[in-house]
Amino acid sequence: MLRAPNENEKAVPRHFDPALINDPFDDPGLYVDLVFEKRALLFDLGDLGRLSPRKMLRISDVFVTHLHMDHFAGFDQLLRRLLGREMTLGVYGPRGIIDAVEHKLRAYSWNLIGGYDGNLTFRVTEMDESGRTSSASFSGRTQFARRDEEKGQLSEGTLLKESGIQVRATTLDHGLPALAFVLEERAHINIWRNRLNAMGLAVGPWLRKFKEATLKGADDQSPINVAWANAEGAKPDSLPFGLLKKEIMKTSSGRKIAYVVDCAYTERNIERIVKLAEGADTLFIEGGFLECDSVAAAARRHLTARQAGTIARLARVKRLVTFHYSPRYKGQGAELAREAQDAFLSG
Ligand SMILES: [Zn+2]
Repeated sequence: MLRAPNENEKAVPRHFDPALINDPFDDPGLYVDLVFEKRALLFDLGDLGRLSPRKMLRISDVFVTHLHMDHFAGFDQLLRRLLGREMTLGVYGPRGIIDAVEHKLRAYSWNLIGGYDGNLTFRVTEMDESGRTSSASFSGRTQFARRDEEKGQLSEGTLLKESGIQVRATTLDHGLPALAFVLEERAHINIWRNRLNAMGLAVGPWLRKFKEATLKGADDQSPINVAWANAEGAKPDSLPFGLLKKEIMKTSSGRKIAYVVDCAYTERNIERIVKLAEGADTLFIEGGFLECDSVAAAARRHLTARQAGTIARLARVKRLVTFHYSPRYKGQGAELAREAQDAFLSG
């Protein structure tokens, strides 16, 4: 996935800083600080008690896997913290999340909210199994009255698409539809300015055309019109794309983080997770049951540690982190982690 960066873009890649909010035995939740954007994304809304106010205030978008309480009860904590701030919070989740947010907001009285300086707005988007979306907004200005917005159809489950990052989702079976998410950084095309100078070439609009040619996968022989720093002497109007690519271009691939919780070990789920998480730098995945209790895990539509490790291996991720451990194993966290890693590294 490539995009055309703007001319001023620095060669420094964006930086994701993902961290689980809680101990693996407590509510699941992943906080991803987008360091250079001074904001953060949150995956799942369980207990947020361990997130500092400063961290909560950085959250711009929240992605909820499903509406079991341990994944959504933190909505109130976030609402409490953000109230009175001038901001719009994006909330994304499976079918039913618009109603769920509406009910949460309706549980309180808002007759005095007009006196607040900042206006907090929630913009909620839900995705069904076939990628159809519905959205609704709830603005503090209207005492959080629901305003339905347009419906849409996603391609590839892309819920959030910005110039530098995107978040995609797929629907898994957990006895109910639950979403799994992947956060991807777009690849960067950068120009080596020192090499450009060394070749006697000038910075100019032609660089944008060159980057566009890169995005289109141009043929190495295609001529690219160039600008020279010093136009004197016999210099060609164009240079071959392949030569420029070799001399002045640097591509850095984007990072990828996958977040998968609460799903049964079914062929369909495995296939969907593998497709979504393929090659991820880190896969955060539930693995809360020991394999000896696989019957209990299956009855609750959850993965065992070994199943999580197997999925990570199939998806060829670089790093595996398991969490969302069942409280029945308190004191056996290391064993759960080891079963997953063994399956990940085997074969
Ligand atoms: Zn659940």
